[in-house]
Amino acid sequence: IDFLSTKDPEVAATVAAELARQRRNIELIASENIVSEAVLVAMGTVLTNKYAEGYPGKRYYGGCQEVDVTENIARERACKLFGAEHANVQPHSGAQANYAVYAALCEHGDTVLGMDLSNGGHLTHGSPVNFSGKNYHMISYGLGADGRIDYDQVRDMAKQHKPKMIIAGASAYPRVIDFKTFAEIAHEMGAYFFVDMAHIAGLVAAGLHPSPVPYADVVSTTTHKTLRGPRGGMILCKEEFAKKIDSAIFPGSQGGPLEHIIAAKAVALGEALQPEFKDYQSRILKNAQALAASLTESGFDLVSGGTDNHLMLVDLRKARVTGKEMEKRLDEVNITVNKNAIPNDPEKPFVTSGIRVGTPAVTTRGFREEDMKVIGELMWQTATDFDAKAEEIRAAVAALTEKYPLYQ
Ligand code: PLP
Repeated sequence: IDFLSTKDPEVAATVAAELARQRRNIELIASENIVSEAVLVAMGTVLTNKYAEGYPGKRYYGGCQEVDVTENIARERACKLFGAEHANVQPHSGAQANYAVYAALCEHGDTVLGMDLSNGGHLTHGSPVNFSGKNYHMISYGLGADGRIDYDQVRDMAKQHKPKMIIAGASAYPRVIDFKTFAEIAHEMGAYFFVDMAHIAGLVAAGLHPSPVPYADVVSTTTHKTLRGPRGGMILCKEEFAKKIDSAIFPGSQGGPLEHIIAAKAVALGEALQPEFKDYQSRILKNAQALAASLTESGFDLVSGGTDNHLMLVDLRKARVTGKEMEKRLDEVNITVNKNAIPNDPEKPFVTSGIRVGTPAVTTRGFREEDMKVIGELMWQTATDFDAKAEEIRAAVAALTEKYPLYQ
């Protein structure tokens, strides 16, 4: 930042302000994380200068000898980490990865069964304002009364609608997903089985969530959530789909790959192959359990009664505050979350009755279970006694963030 400020003080000031915000705030957005210095450095390298349309060994530009090596390292590490037959590390984002999976396996107008957005699915799993809802005939499964996926409902819908592809995976689902049962349903119906493991990829890599890789035809992920890499996407698949997937990314939907980001993906995948990564993922789970217990003991309800993974959905109705208001209040005391609809939410999607919270970023920062207990209590005070306690809560947050310095 010091160097940047001598060249472009205006932009450097915004970066410095963002660093200060990240240091000051307790980051509970379930899809965010804090990358290592090695990942940061890899992103800021001369690899950004290189055009490399195509794939290692088969490029449409000269001078790709070195980036071929980088990209091969990323692909090999991805296959090793997840036990996959083939990896494409070029998707610019999770949504781009998903776009390519649809393009590789389906035709426009085909029926696709995915998880309902208001029950935890992602935009790319069938939202009418997204390519998925616009180009394909999307139908969606929801949750049972217990807040969990109802596999009988999935089977019934698959029988009735005969989808070309079934999608498992979510943006806001706190429970283990049974990929084996999903795969049985898909293959009974002759449908492709596609898993979007964006949220849980780190847990899967560490063996702390069942892996979809043995069961799914294709698996996509983001690289920046629990996996703790740079912002980006990745696709893993069986060898039989490799050609189709690769051509759906390039030339199908992207041009030149971001080789500097691919280098950072390689670094992050290398980190994930180290034994410490498993410890880190198990601390994410312990912190999530501790936060869930603290929120529940404080007085909140959690959708499905708790969590098996890194995130939880807090039902705010008992505390008589909306998701929108709670997100705003928490921002004012330097705790960052996002409002999130709960199943059958009585409020509009822009207001909501819930928030989604997760522990990947705070765990990277070093927070432990005793800190999670304090955070749960501070959140209850924010919901129920904000005007009187805001100053006190802000001070308690500052004490926690100062205990775990960021990027020293
Ligand atoms: N898939 C799931 C399940 C997600 O939660 C997200 C992001 O939140 C994505 C895909 C999209 O990733 P990106 O924001 O990188 O496009």
